Amino acid sequence: MKLIDGKAVSEELKNTLKQDVLEYQQRTGRTPHLAAIIVGNNPASKAYVGNKVKSCHQVGFRSTLIQLPEDITEQLLIEEIQKLNNDPDIDGFIVQLPLPAHIDEVKVTLAIDPKKDVDGFHPVNFGRMAQGLPCYLPATPYGILLLLDRYNIEVSGKHVVVVGRSNIVGTPISILLSRKANPGNATVTLAHSRTKNLSEITLQGDILIAAIGIPDFIKEDMVKDNAVVIDVGINRVAAPDQPKGSKLTGDVDFLNVRSKTSYITPVPGGVGPMTVLGLMLNTFKAAKKEIYP
Ligand code: NAD
Repeated sequence: MKLIDGKAVSEELKNTLKQDVLEYQQRTGRTPHLAAIIVGNNPASKAYVGNKVKSCHQVGFRSTLIQLPEDITEQLLIEEIQKLNNDPDIDGFIVQLPLPAHIDEVKVTLAIDPKKDVDGFHPVNFGRMAQGLPCYLPATPYGILLLLDRYNIEVSGKHVVVVGRSNIVGTPISILLSRKANPGNATVTLAHSRTKNLSEITLQGDILIAAIGIPDFIKEDMVKDNAVVIDVGINRVAAPDQPKGSKLTGDVDFLNVRSKTSYITPVPGGVGPMTVLGLMLNTFKAAKKEIYP
């Protein structure tokens, strides 16, 4: 079993990005600028956005954090988005999800200019991704592709089983890995909450990607011998022995599954840091106008 060290890979690639940003600054006199909108006080969202801001500083970007109240109306939020769409100083921005229940996430996503949609959630970017056109890849699938590449994990011709069909992880990674691309060319099965006999399917996965949101859901007897296991889940669970009284855990029962695998990502320190890196890479592409010249 080899551990896929997403933290180390993300640090290494952030250092490379930092050099590229420096060179870009010297050439153009501009500094890439990412903005993040956060609505309300969800502690997990605040932590995620905090990590993104920290990474901006690490790679030499400017960052602007826009904190809006929990009870903001959908209309006012969309007006904030339009300001960012029209601000030439902002290269790209994100609206941290989830949003409060009274706000329609689809409407909010549609309000973002695809040219500045560095999360890659807008249907224009999603459609371009599905057709293999230049686009901002959604950050988590982007991070997974980079990890597979970095560890030289053969994907072509392999059976990839993805569990979870969200618009931000399961569905896009299933599309990306089945595309004629590298990494790609896999045969992909997308499983979800209505899948029957799930274990029979996960047991066929040469590469198993879990994006479910249920702690330790994938058990040892669901994993093929020598499989590559990518655990996307981030779940906070009670842990009385920890100083905070809780800890983060993935969707895979790591302690019991790891010995069966050829490669496995830990949680934390696997896919999470790579997601932030994906966002940084997209923001740099936005600054360079690489996707939409
Ligand atoms: P989601 O919550 O939108 O959807 C969960 C998916 O799991 C659904 O498609 C559902 O069909 C499937 N599912 C639920 N119960 C199931 C069951 N019993 N059997 C099979 N499938 C089942 O998913 P999401 O937003 O992709 O998040 C999934 C997990 O990944 C969460 O823990 C989230 O916190 C984490 N996440 C991590 C990162 C990262 O950077 N590492 C990024 C995004 C999400």
